[in-house]
Amino acid sequence: MQIEIANNSNPGVCSACGGRCCNHRPGVTDITDWGKTRNEIETNIEKALRTGYWCSDPWDGDPTGNDDVDRVHMIRPSGRDHKGALYHAPFFESVPCAFLTYKGCFYSFRDRPLMCRTLIPNQESPGDCTAEDPELKRKMAIRWMPYNNFIQQLIRRLENEEPDSNGARPILANGNYQRE
Ligand code: SF4
Ligand code: SF4
Repeated sequence: MQIEIANNSNPGVCSACGGRCCNHRPGVTDITDWGKTRNEIETNIEKALRTGYWCSDPWDGDPTGNDDVDRVHMIRPSGRDHKGALYHAPFFESVPCAFLTYKGCFYSFRDRPLMCRTLIPNQESPGDCTAEDPELKRKMAIRWMPYNNFIQQLIRRLENEEPDSNGARPILANGNYQRE
């Protein structure tokens, strides 16, 4: 079940800023952004990765502090120039989001990744924006942990499939990907 966040979008502030957040790095999704059941979540993630518009941007280390895993896969939109890559672009460069259009985000507010929905536009200083909860990403990484092996195996499988010129891999037989 998706986490409800009140619509805090503020087009006036964001257009004054010019989309600094979306131009720097796409926001990460929460596992709850992908569906209600495990089957629905796994199906939607596979369909998304196959479009070439989504990739893994892992949390490095174990977000619980237990040292049980090296990293935790988290899915976020691809960079505009990195479509088809299954892993995030290097950290040393800014990566404009593949869903950033000249009119703003392609998605309506409720369909955006949780990290995008929780970033509050700063009216006093557009561009200097933070989420209310500084621990949000770590908490999200913990929620992703039960899907870590699934995503690792999925990425291994997709690495053996050559993407087309748009970064897409063949769509599953059960239909086109469409995020709900
Ligand atoms: S949320 Fe903040 S950084 Fe992002 S576009 Fe709006 S003002 Fe700019
Ligand atoms: S999904 Fe939308 S709000 Fe989030 S980074 Fe991409 S363009 Fe920005």
